[in-house]
Amino acid sequence: MTDTSRHIVWFRDDLRLSDHAALHAAATSGAPVICLYVFDEQSAALQPNARPIGGATRWWLAQSLRALDASLKAIGGALVLRRGAAADVIAALAREVDAGHVHWNEIAQAPHLAVADEVVAALADLNVGAHSYNGDLLVAPKAIRTKEGRGLRVFTPFWKRIQAMGDPAKPLPAPKKLKPAPKVASDRLSDWKLEPTAPDWAGGLREMWTPGETVAQERLAEWLENGVTGYATDRDRPDREGTSRLSPHLRFGEISPRQIWYAARFAAAEHPQRATDISKFLSEVGWREFCRHLLFDVPDLAQRNLQSSFDAFPWKRDARALLAWQRGSTGYPLIDAGMRELWHTGTMHNRVRMVVASFLVKHLLIDWREGEKWFWDTLVDADAGSNPANWQWVAGSGADAAPYFRVFNPILQGEKFDPDGVYVRRWVPELKDMPSKFIHQPWNASPLEFARAGVTLGKTYPTPIIEHKAGRERALKAYASTRNS
Ligand SMILES: Cc1cc2nc3c(=O)[nH]c(=O)nc-3n(C[C@H](O)[C@H](O)[C@H](O)COP(=O)(O)OP(=O)(O)OC[C@H]3O[C@@H](n4cnc5c(N)ncnc54)[C@H](O)[C@@H]3O)c2cc1C
Repeated sequence: MTDTSRHIVWFRDDLRLSDHAALHAAATSGAPVICLYVFDEQSAALQPNARPIGGATRWWLAQSLRALDASLKAIGGALVLRRGAAADVIAALAREVDAGHVHWNEIAQAPHLAVADEVVAALADLNVGAHSYNGDLLVAPKAIRTKEGRGLRVFTPFWKRIQAMGDPAKPLPAPKKLKPAPKVASDRLSDWKLEPTAPDWAGGLREMWTPGETVAQERLAEWLENGVTGYATDRDRPDREGTSRLSPHLRFGEISPRQIWYAARFAAAEHPQRATDISKFLSEVGWREFCRHLLFDVPDLAQRNLQSSFDAFPWKRDARALLAWQRGSTGYPLIDAGMRELWHTGTMHNRVRMVVASFLVKHLLIDWREGEKWFWDTLVDADAGSNPANWQWVAGSGADAAPYFRVFNPILQGEKFDPDGVYVRRWVPELKDMPSKFIHQPWNASPLEFARAGVTLGKTYPTPIIEHKAGRERALKAYASTRNS
């Protein structure tokens, strides 16, 4: 029997049509479907540990909503935009269109779960069915627990457990057609002011990215066909295009981890010579999963040291050094290249993220939360799980973390992973004519080499804000003082 009531699908961080359990359920009901996105800063403000999204992710969200609306229109639907507290907005729309059911994909994060509970309560008052589905993870966090009922804190056993569980449920197809629903009023996206105008700093983001499901799916296919070979080694090279660039698409759910899992397994079976690289790639997607599971257990992951010994760490307040780091003017070419890449494109290579984070926390002794905040605002893939979990990993305060005494040497890291300085020359153009030998330590060049390269240290390019060895020793001393206190 065909369902004659109207169904609402509430989109959140799942801006796609394929493998969308909520949309699939509504579409297969045969009833008219109303697709809704709620821009909810109100409930977020009331939830502990909720964070307003940053500047770069606001820009991405606007593009992704446009792309979703276009995809929905192509199958007979449209995206309704409304602003306000999700429970109020959804209940009001349910009354307005006389909806019988509301569907959404769960986000396993405390603030989102709390808002979803409010929605459930509001719909129960109206006698409207509320249906939620696992959406953004391979495995729900509650399914992976220790004997004591805790989430796992070490990656390798975590990933082994997931693999031992076998394939997740198969991705669902996108609906081919949606039954038309009555037209309802929608906000204008431009009124939400998600995109910067004065000044418009998003030029570099536009050059680099095309948000949306179509591009995400094409990128995955292209990556597995032509990109992934050599990933296990090239993924550490910022001078090469050695990684998938899928992270912001995953962040906004334009592609699901289940789709990646199945496409990767299929590609590995088709091309056994790529299996090692593909398995490494999948294990990185496993890190995303690990960070999200950690966040489920530790909702204040962006505020609290996982290892409480760090609570007494003698962080320095140094606004000048923080600014130099943010602007990419520390005098260390690899650090400056990374920070400028971030500012221009909304992303930064993973290896360089580790080195710049280590530099902030260890050489400059600035609290990892300052760096995390800056990344939160500037990354297009800024993720409530991956960002704080990785910052804590680098700082040494986190789960399965790098030991504090591992202080990355920004010169050696540059020489190893960007040996000819291709990456540095691109992002720090004032050094582009430096000989490769000095590209990661320009201060050691001779006056003749400086003259040839057109560089005046301290004028056209800064002198290092801290000497590497001194910074390293100071960091180790600070660490020892907390260990002994
Ligand atoms: C200090 C710091 C902060 C970070 N903040 C974020 C963040 O906010 N959002 C984010 O998505 N990633 C973050 N990362 C992880 C990583 O740098 C990015 O996921 C990666 O650079 C994205 O590029 P890619 O899609 O080409 O990755 P690929 O190498 O192609 O990896 C495939 C996917 O695996 C996942 N992944 C890879 N590495 C990690 C990792 N270390 N932790 C969690 N997931 C991973 C991503 O979803 C990525 O798209 C951070 C890393 C560091 C060191």
